[in-house]
Amino acid sequence: HKVYLNGEYLPLSKARVSVLDRGFLFGDGVYEVIPAYHGKLFRLEAHLQRLENSLSNIRLGLSYSVEKWREILLPLVDETKDQYIYLQITRGVAPKRDHAFPTSAVPTVFAMCSDIQYFEGREVGVKAVTMDDNRWEMCHVKATTLLANILLRQQAIEQGCAEAILVKNGYVTEGAASNLFVVIDGELMTPAKSADILPGITRDVIIELAQANDIKVNENVISLEALQAADEIWVTSSTREIIPVVELDGQPVADGHPGPLWRKINELFQQYKQSVS
Ligand code: PLP
Repeated sequence: HKVYLNGEYLPLSKARVSVLDRGFLFGDGVYEVIPAYHGKLFRLEAHLQRLENSLSNIRLGLSYSVEKWREILLPLVDETKDQYIYLQITRGVAPKRDHAFPTSAVPTVFAMCSDIQYFEGREVGVKAVTMDDNRWEMCHVKATTLLANILLRQQAIEQGCAEAILVKNGYVTEGAASNLFVVIDGELMTPAKSADILPGITRDVIIELAQANDIKVNENVISLEALQAADEIWVTSSTREIIPVVELDGQPVADGHPGPLWRKINELFQQYKQSVS
């Protein structure tokens, strides 16, 4: 199992980073998770565009072309499987621990590939709980600093739920590690892109597929009350795809089973995935 670290390919067990790396000391870095379906990097350009946005938001100067990234990432991938690449860039190793940027540090670039584990909750649905969104104000940046997300997800797990759905000032934002869709009165809705959410690539694909099939998507605010009254709730991400939420805060969502629009969009998504892999 080889990984990529700063220009080299080496076995995972041999990959080493200094304890002075700012990723380790501060979580001073950004990352991407890119599906690789049978050797094809899914929506690579979109993931790299988001990576570039993340890097520029944290003022980390590293700019590789799409071709250079493809060259780096493809040797990690097994063409016989569905996998995902984890790619992380930190501000690098500084001579001492100091919050301020080091004057000269070379970014640490790390990538590894893992098998996508099929998520059992997909067909039957999962439970979710709502929680106060106590994250920072740059949630559109895919930062490695994930303590708030980790604590929220862990609380959800400890309550027998697969995801925490986050609420900010009375409006839902997204999941601890996913975007959110709801169906209300037959209308598909998702919170609009803003600094309150990560602009998910899966979210973009769902919107495209819906629109191509004459299903309108309303990108707007969703109140907690609207969420509680929704006919369908889905959480979406690259590694879990589109997961129906069938129980929210201990109450069934509609009849407590995955809904018809989920069935339709999930089918379109699976077909689309096949067509590009
Ligand atoms: N929102 C958050 C906070 C996430 O961590 C993720 C990814 O895991 C997503 C949304 C979904 O993004 P994507 O569809 O690009 O995986």
